[in-house]
Amino acid sequence: MNQGKSKVIVQKYGGTSVGTVERIKHVAHRIATYKEKAEGIVVVVSAMGKETDRLLALSRETNASPDPREQDMLLASGEQVSSALLAMALAERGIKARSYLSFQLPIITNNRHTAALIKEINVERLLRSFQQGEVAVVAGFQGITAEGEITTLGRGGSDTTAVALAAALNADFCEIYTDVDGVYTCDPQVYKKARKLSKISYESMMELAGLGAKVLHNRCVELARKYNVKILVRSSFNYEEGTWVCGEDEEMEGELISGVTFSRGETKISVMGVPDKPGIASRIFIPLADMGINVDMIIQNIGRQNAADVTFTVPDDDLDRALQAVKKVAEEVGAEGVHYDQNIAKVSIVGGGMRSNPGVASRMFQALAAAGINIMMISTSEIKISCVIDARYTELAVRVLHDAFGLHKS
Ligand code: ADP
Ligand code: ASP
Ligand code: MG
Repeated sequence: MNQGKSKVIVQKYGGTSVGTVERIKHVAHRIATYKEKAEGIVVVVSAMGKETDRLLALSRETNASPDPREQDMLLASGEQVSSALLAMALAERGIKARSYLSFQLPIITNNRHTAALIKEINVERLLRSFQQGEVAVVAGFQGITAEGEITTLGRGGSDTTAVALAAALNADFCEIYTDVDGVYTCDPQVYKKARKLSKISYESMMELAGLGAKVLHNRCVELARKYNVKILVRSSFNYEEGTWVCGEDEEMEGELISGVTFSRGETKISVMGVPDKPGIASRIFIPLADMGINVDMIIQNIGRQNAADVTFTVPDDDLDRALQAVKKVAEEVGAEGVHYDQNIAKVSIVGGGMRSNPGVASRMFQALAAAGINIMMISTSEIKISCVIDARYTELAVRVLHDAFGLHKS
């Protein structure tokens, strides 16, 4: 397995896994069992438990729309605490360890605060730690710009820190320790019939993560595919096998659907009664693109008297800015008005087998219809179909689709 790759172990422990001092000690115990097996060990940690949520709530209490630079400054503190505590817990067991913040390596990112992308990593200090027999504990989620500003990689971004380090160290794989023992056919907290997958392709995992399955940060899967780093998702609470995220093989090709997922983080905006003439769509969407707002689904209905209704979804976090921009354009082009609906959810099915099997979409729509769930919007790609529905029915929709595609059976 390590042919041509270094024998460096990269492990990442998520928030629940380092949620208390007891759990941090337990993680130190697990790391101790790997100590003799590698040329070097890097452990990436998330903030303890719900610390990032707590910090976000503090920032909202202080300022309704804080400067993203200050937000990053605040959020990055969570991982500073957990990395130092883990280094201390390792030392307590007699294992040499040193914690590192991003700027100390550094992990250089672009300057998109709260959603920064990693551009470059310097691993020299990690290699020095290995030479000195130290476990290197790295604070996940954070980066630093070339100008010296602290950034964060987006919620769940410690996974990405870990995979990026694994790639930079030329490790064969990256272990992600979390509170579930692998990637399931749907969130096991939503449906107990969810089945653990022994492996899943980068492509399917990227879609699942991008469409809401928070078990992995979607950027980390993208990086893993690009740099050919396999990911092993495992539980830090048991020694079960886990799930491999890797290149597609014949067995995976045979699977019609790999999983069902959902996301509640988007809002539907409708611009009503837009004059139906060339150039209007660009008038609406160019300002949103210029503001860096990611528009997901779009539909346009041609209605009465040469007027159209344009409906699209944006991330909840961007709603205020999007509404401001859209209302301005609506007024300029003489549209009838702007409505929005936050009580929506997107449910999606993902699977490589969709490429060669017609009829998947109709099976999905039938299953939702049979459960009395109305579909508001639809979008498809080669290996996924997403439907926007009333948020009240999210979990029901996940269960119904899981049953319709028989995902409990391997
Ligand atoms: P961590 O803090 O370790 O990064 P997360 O909370 O980010 O953990 O991710 C793990 C959670 O992802 C699980 O508790 C589970 O509820 C959720 N999850 C969502 N979809 C899936 C899926 N398809 N398979 C496994 N877990 C999933
Ligand atoms: N602590 C950050 C978050 O909660 C990053 C992570 O856990 O991966 O989003
Ligand atoms: Mg996570």
